[in-house]
Amino acid sequence: MKDCIFCKIVKGEIPSKKIYEDDLCMAYLDINPDTDGHTLIIPKEHYEDIYELPNDVLKHIFDVSKKLMNELKDKLNCTGHTLMINYGSSQEVKHFHMHIKPQYKDKKFVEFIKHKELLKDTNKVHEMIKED
Ligand code: 5GP
Ligand code: ZN
Repeated sequence: MKDCIFCKIVKGEIPSKKIYEDDLCMAYLDINPDTDGHTLIIPKEHYEDIYELPNDVLKHIFDVSKKLMNELKDKLNCTGHTLMINYGSSQEVKHFHMHIKPQYKDKKFVEFIKHKELLKDTNKVHEMIKED
């Protein structure tokens, strides 16, 4: 959809730190991460939110999320994940996306949010997790 940031990322008109892509979806690092490796998974087609998104595409996005959660665990040594989908007034970008927020036992989630300086350089994180 014209003027949608995430559609522009799909078309390559806006750069992104991509970590995964297939026919239906794409995953890349969040530009303003809450944790190291904070990833967004989006359908390539424009659907505004979880209600517009067809259930078969939602299932595919969950399948890909589970695969990426494992890969992130291996590559970043995180100890868990938080999956998150915002909707309505909580959803800033109106192109459906699922957040994967890796969690680290030794670093509490809220510490990263309060102290963004604790986060690693996203270029380094991207190097660690991008597809070979
Ligand atoms: P939500 O809509 O669920 O509130 O969150 C939107 C997310 O998209 C935010 O975490 C924000 O940092 C991220 N975001 C917004 N614009 C861009 C962008 O241009 N590139 C990337 N990679 N992430 C973005
Ligand atoms: Zn879009």
